[in-house]
Amino acid sequence: MPQPPSPKAAHAPTPTPTGRSIIEGAFVEAGESVSRAAFRALNPATGTPTGPECFAATPAEIDRAARAAERDARAYASLPREKRAAFLGRIADEILALGEALPALAAAETGLPASPRLASERDRAVLQLRSMAHAVREGAWAEPILDHADPDRKPIPRPDLRRVLVPLGPVAVFGAGNFPIAYSTAGTDTASALAAGCPVVVKGHPGHPGTGELVAQAVTDAAVATGMPTGVFAFLHAGGARENHVGAELVRHPAVAAVGFTGSHAGGMALARLAADRPVPIPVFAEMGSVNPVFLLPAALSRDPVGLAERLFASATASAGQMCTCPGLFFLARGDGADAFLKALASLFHRAEPMVMLSPRVRALYASTLASLAKAKGVEVRAGAAEQPEPRPGSPVTASPALLRTTLAAFEADPALARECFGPAALAVVCDRPDDLLHAASIIPGSLTATIISASPDGALALGLRDLLIPRAGRLISNGVPTGVEVAPAMVHGGPYPATNRPDASAVGPTAIRRWTRPVCFQNFPDELLPHELKDANPLNLARSEDAVYTPPRPSR
Ligand code: NAP
Repeated sequence: MPQPPSPKAAHAPTPTPTGRSIIEGAFVEAGESVSRAAFRALNPATGTPTGPECFAATPAEIDRAARAAERDARAYASLPREKRAAFLGRIADEILALGEALPALAAAETGLPASPRLASERDRAVLQLRSMAHAVREGAWAEPILDHADPDRKPIPRPDLRRVLVPLGPVAVFGAGNFPIAYSTAGTDTASALAAGCPVVVKGHPGHPGTGELVAQAVTDAAVATGMPTGVFAFLHAGGARENHVGAELVRHPAVAAVGFTGSHAGGMALARLAADRPVPIPVFAEMGSVNPVFLLPAALSRDPVGLAERLFASATASAGQMCTCPGLFFLARGDGADAFLKALASLFHRAEPMVMLSPRVRALYASTLASLAKAKGVEVRAGAAEQPEPRPGSPVTASPALLRTTLAAFEADPALARECFGPAALAVVCDRPDDLLHAASIIPGSLTATIISASPDGALALGLRDLLIPRAGRLISNGVPTGVEVAPAMVHGGPYPATNRPDASAVGPTAIRRWTRPVCFQNFPDELLPHELKDANPLNLARSEDAVYTPPRPSR
């Protein structure tokens, strides 16, 4: 039987997607199975199909990818740290080597601008991969803790205990449609799982299959160039008649040990339920939607209402409001500053042109959520239209921005007003008195972020809000906007439910590696049988403290 072409050979010199999944370092054969579901991406800026016909992975292909990952999991996990780091660094290089073809293709499949939006997303993915490589080299992510033996302890001696994080095994990764590069095929979940020592099987997103496959080719080339076992990475196309099925079958596969998901609340929770119902339940780290409330305090509002309106409008409508950190709720108290702010904000929403949405499905969900918000009791449309006309087939997939307004009493009476409206819309909740903002902060759902806009006379109120918002958000922002997630060790991209199902985790920064690990303790093991991280000779362990509890050093940037 002729060998399937290698991704490297197929994409040299001009990389192009083929529409075929990549398993064990090679494209799957066309016609490998008769039960193939074909689909094509849609260019939402034109409303016309783009890219090649793509073939959703079959059950047999899913099984092959998962089994290969399981087979090679131990070999990959036990590679020297330097080799794993070199692999991650090489993925970054291969992605850069795709040049401007990558953002251009992502733009054609998502309608997001190639520059600067998608080019900077590509650079962000590269930075993530390199910072994961750095973390792997440094080794502190494994959080070794050494409790030395105390043979003289009374009444009984204390054993030697050494604890370290070990990789879980194959991780299934689901990327989001709105970040086709940085939260997709080689995005933060894949980078952190590979850093932890886990093989990865990516379920491609049907909204950007070509972009996903092109990046998968880059990962595969990097794996070949750095001598990785072939099961370390696979990419499965999903879409058409097999939409949902490929992902569900992957999550149910017995070889899969954990799931990384970025996407909608409905999708994340569906997969979390599937994982919990398996004969052997597995962890799912689902990063889901978020409303990202902003609290505008009176002194700050009266100082610069127009400037604040401009900054928050830009943040709420960035990428047509299709970012998980776009602010969707503005809380403010009646007053001159609030009036001036709302007037300026309404004018910006009113003047805004229709925006290209990611897909007809995302547009339709935006339109229906917006319509039901606008119909809710006590809600008025301040700017824009609540009814979004459906674009004709073959025409651009657009939607118009909208600003809604309500009172705190109406907001409290209807929990549906606090749900994410994924698109260029925001709801202003006007309170009677500044202190009502504290009550508002105590009734909002969990979010990725919460923002406090304050000036010094607002100090006491800002402090009260901070304390109420800590349990409700993963990242608190002072006098800024929530969009723009820095890739850095201190970053927390996560938050309480419903923003995620795992409030203990961050999807961004080296601490994201922890998600794909579990702790193991070695009791009284001789040095020669201990993993590298726990040996006395490990330079990290020279820093251990007197009470024998080791605190990992802060990873440097
Ligand atoms: P989505 O519709 O949930 O799709 C994401 C993935 O989930 C798709 O690959 C889809 O696979 C899969 N999926 C969804 N429902 C499923 C089900 N019932 N069974 C199996 N698989 C299922 O989300 P999206 O439209 O791509 O992304 C937009 C959402 O992501 C927004 O809500 C946004 O706020 C959120 N988001 C969150 C973050 C974060 O970090 N928290 C970042 C970016 C985006 P199939 O296509 O095969 O069905």
